[in-house]
Amino acid sequence: MKNSPKNNDKIYYMIIAIVAIACVVVSIVLIINNKSKNEEEKDLAYTELIKLIDEQKIEKIEMTVGSTSIKVMLKGESQEDAKTAIVPNTQAFIELIHEKYKEGNYIELIQKPVNTFLKVGETLFSFLPTILILIMFLIIIQMQGLGDKGKVYDAESHKNTNITFKDVAGLEEEKTELIEIVNFLKEPKKFQEMGAKIPKGILLYGKPGTGKTLIAKAIAGEAGVPFISMSGSEFIEMFAGLGASRVRKLFDKAKKISPCIVFIDEIDAIGSRRTNGSGAESENNQTLNQLLVEMDGFETDQTVIVLAATNRPEMLDKALLRPGRFDRQITIAPPDAKGREEILKIHSKNKKLSKEIDLKEIATDTAGFTGAELANVLNESAIIATTKEHKEITMDDLEEAVKKVTVGLEKHSRVISDKDRKLTAYHEAGHAVVSKYLSTQSDVKEVSIIPRGIAGGYTMYKTNEDKYYISKTEMEERLIALLGGRAAEKIAINDISTGASNDIEVATSVAKDMVIKYGMSDVIGPIDLTVKDRTEISPFGEEIDNVVGVEVKKLMDVAYNKAQEIILSHMDKLHAVASILLQKEKITAEEFEEIFK
Ligand code: ADP
Ligand code: ZN
Repeated sequence: MKNSPKNNDKIYYMIIAIVAIACVVVSIVLIINNKSKNEEEKDLAYTELIKLIDEQKIEKIEMTVGSTSIKVMLKGESQEDAKTAIVPNTQAFIELIHEKYKEGNYIELIQKPVNTFLKVGETLFSFLPTILILIMFLIIIQMQGLGDKGKVYDAESHKNTNITFKDVAGLEEEKTELIEIVNFLKEPKKFQEMGAKIPKGILLYGKPGTGKTLIAKAIAGEAGVPFISMSGSEFIEMFAGLGASRVRKLFDKAKKISPCIVFIDEIDAIGSRRTNGSGAESENNQTLNQLLVEMDGFETDQTVIVLAATNRPEMLDKALLRPGRFDRQITIAPPDAKGREEILKIHSKNKKLSKEIDLKEIATDTAGFTGAELANVLNESAIIATTKEHKEITMDDLEEAVKKVTVGLEKHSRVISDKDRKLTAYHEAGHAVVSKYLSTQSDVKEVSIIPRGIAGGYTMYKTNEDKYYISKTEMEERLIALLGGRAAEKIAINDISTGASNDIEVATSVAKDMVIKYGMSDVIGPIDLTVKDRTEISPFGEEIDNVVGVEVKKLMDVAYNKAQEIILSHMDKLHAVASILLQKEKITAEEFEEIFK
């Protein structure tokens, strides 16, 4: 996965802010310093000095070549009490002293050569604010993209990728659809002569890590054309007009190297609905407008295909989706079991896997994982195998890696009080026992009270198939299983904890979706309350909000009661599971099933 360009920008701005503050501080210090220095040095006014000379009160004067500042020592006073004075014209002053000689007024005059080292230092120092301001200016110019070598976008050095469709596992239908684009890019002339209009923009919808960037690169690789890219979040800049100018530059470059692929990641960062707002929003508008202008402005002989990726299609400005812009949309869904197996295969090519490994089994265990997460699983397994000094990656290493990626690292070291352990044991046992008595819920795979990541324990379920639809009964039972943890805490320990907060959060959002999205509440009926009109105001009014609240609460209450009912009628099982957990910290599927025989 990529690192966030937003973060880089933040660091960049921080550096600028620091430089700017440093400039201001240094300038102020220098100004104050200079002032006080001048005042101090002039502790003898020139007229006063002349008066003292005339009154023959001066013993010695020290001058430095090239400086108007002199040191004056009065008769009968020590070296330390020397006063300083400024003479308007050093040459005239020296002559004056010589005149005084002739009058018999002898003043010792010492002329010291200039200390070049100090002098240069002083000069440099006095230029410091100017230099700093200049540096800051250069940085700004660079950021504005006016400088010669400013890093504006990584399109500066475009490369033909060597990624092809072979590197993209699964996504067969999507690839078939995109082969057309590859052909367009390979032989644009042929299509143009036939009068075919080449698509300009394709929007890829999908979660992060599902392979949107990968497939865009593969199209470029298949067609043998350059791939240039940037991320939407890079466009959001501090300086007005910068986003728009970057878009212009990106497309200027694209036109020069056409045919090519332009990939814009996180397009929602610039392409979210235009508002009449100010500041960041209006900057956003400028960038979006520029993008629209560029997309409308291609000549027919310029084969530039823009692919854009987003996870939030609902955020996009409708103008982006008009014909001639991103008029094709492709959803990139997380892979199904077969897709996962293929992705695992691709990413295990350069790994030392032991023969016993069954990638199909790992694929079965990783429902819902994205391609990036699966790649991560294999990488983690290699790390685990190395740490354990295995010759090859074993099935155990892989399973461990799956868990690691799912819930974070096992933390054996964390000290947990006995009370907490007991609470966690009953909580997790509650989930497991309750779901055992719910026919739609998956079988328990493992229950553990070893903390992982932020979770104190976990109950893992077997996932046998990829589901496309979830029934109402299944969702209701999901709520019951989720609330099983809390129910067990209450019944077995007669206290409840914050350990259930995540369960409650998930359950509430499931219940809410049932009511407002999937039309599963009889009172509200089959209405999607999340549909909004253009003004972003729900057209359904306030009364319905109240009904939603009542309906969600009803679902939750029913589920919580049902969970308690199950626990109460199977207390023996709950105690049995909890006591094994307290002993061994973990229960396998077999041990769990044994309890119910
Ligand atoms: P996105 O752009 O959707 O956030 P990426 O294309 O950046 O996701 O995917 C990140 C990484 O995950 C890829 O570089 C690749 O290693 C892996 N990956 C994702 N999907 C697939 C896939 N279908 N086949 C093979 N590897 C994949
Ligand atoms: Zn829980």
